[in-house]
Amino acid sequence: MKKIGLVSLGCAKNLVDSEMILAMFSPEEYILSDDPSDSDLIIVNTCGFIEDAKREAIETILEMAQYKKAKLCVVGCFVERDLEDLRKNIPEVDLWIPLKDYSRMNVLLEKLLDEEKIAPMDPLKRVISTPKYSAYLRISEGCNNFCSFCAIPYIRGRFVSRPYDEVLKEAKMLKERGVKEVVIVSQDTTMYGFDFPEHKPNIFSLLKEIDDMGFYSIRLLYLYPDEISDELLAFIKGSKSIDHYFDIPIQCASDHLLKLMKRHGTAEQERALFHKIREMMPEAILRTTLISGFPGETEEDQKETLEFMEEVRFDHLGDFPYSREEGTAAYSYPDQLSAEIKNERHDEIMSLQRKISHSQNVRHEGEVMEGLVTGYDPTKKLYTLRSYWNAPDDIDGNIYFSSEKKLNDGDIVKVKITSAFIYDLLGKLV
Ligand code: SF4
Repeated sequence: MKKIGLVSLGCAKNLVDSEMILAMFSPEEYILSDDPSDSDLIIVNTCGFIEDAKREAIETILEMAQYKKAKLCVVGCFVERDLEDLRKNIPEVDLWIPLKDYSRMNVLLEKLLDEEKIAPMDPLKRVISTPKYSAYLRISEGCNNFCSFCAIPYIRGRFVSRPYDEVLKEAKMLKERGVKEVVIVSQDTTMYGFDFPEHKPNIFSLLKEIDDMGFYSIRLLYLYPDEISDELLAFIKGSKSIDHYFDIPIQCASDHLLKLMKRHGTAEQERALFHKIREMMPEAILRTTLISGFPGETEEDQKETLEFMEEVRFDHLGDFPYSREEGTAAYSYPDQLSAEIKNERHDEIMSLQRKISHSQNVRHEGEVMEGLVTGYDPTKKLYTLRSYWNAPDDIDGNIYFSSEKKLNDGDIVKVKITSAFIYDLLGKLV
């Protein structure tokens, strides 16, 4: 039996693709292997979102190309974006498959391996690579927003909701497999259903059905600020299992920059949204992402964003120095800032966030958090917990806790938080 290895780079949405690719290889015919030196086929699923992701993809491809025994196939966003250049510059790769050819990926791979046993890609068939109790559920593809810094709409195409019944079927399948937490992802989660006739069914209908399935936790990632209605907030507040966790990337909080970034809405609307969430759900966890050093960003813009951070006090915040991406509107903007300024502003944002994050974390001292056991670190002799406070994508901090009782991954436990650090929390089993 041939051995298949896969390296998945990039975000959770790409991971779902990787899981579907693995499911194309039936276990009767193939063995999935995590040892590239012993694989017959290595697939690298790339991300091409920003410069750093492309660099990581090239390094990974070149590393995998050293395993001469295996055929090397590279797929994903980077291939979709830069196929001709890649083909020219990395001849070690045996097969490149851009996103637009995914529907015939099985045929292309069969040709490469010289056999006919590979099934077509099927959204309902995935080899779940996350721990047994946890899975991502992707509800749509692409994006219509065309933010001026972002290459995603050009790589992944325009926004398309996955068929309603198909998403529900997949959610049911995850429930039947024993998944306890489901993390809903897409490029623009709140937009679900927008492309259906009369915009129905929509994100409410979908969430309602999934909420009724009895998962322990449902978490929504990537909410676009101006698509979050009062109705949606009220629904989340009253839901059975949707976490009061709001991942709302705002990118900046200055009207001047929001316009240049071609984002919808104003800083005032963003401010009002976060205040509303905190008013309705005082315990809500707020997460966002920012870009520092966008072309044309002034000291005043930076000041406005810092003041906004002080006011809203995000529990989790990531900042990325602006990456100039070919093909996007902002690529040809004048007033591109130097790497030095971008990094300075990034450092300023992160240094403020460290203080905010710590003071937000201190508020949890004494709180009893319920969640899933996600692992054990034998050197620290501590378990890790996922509660409503942290998403499973390794962006937020960790909750460590001690327990005299032996626990298993996926157990639901209660932990009393005893200390707070800049990014992490520490507690003990109740
Ligand atoms: S909303 Fe903007 S940043 Fe997010 S994927 Fe769409 S275009 Fe990119």
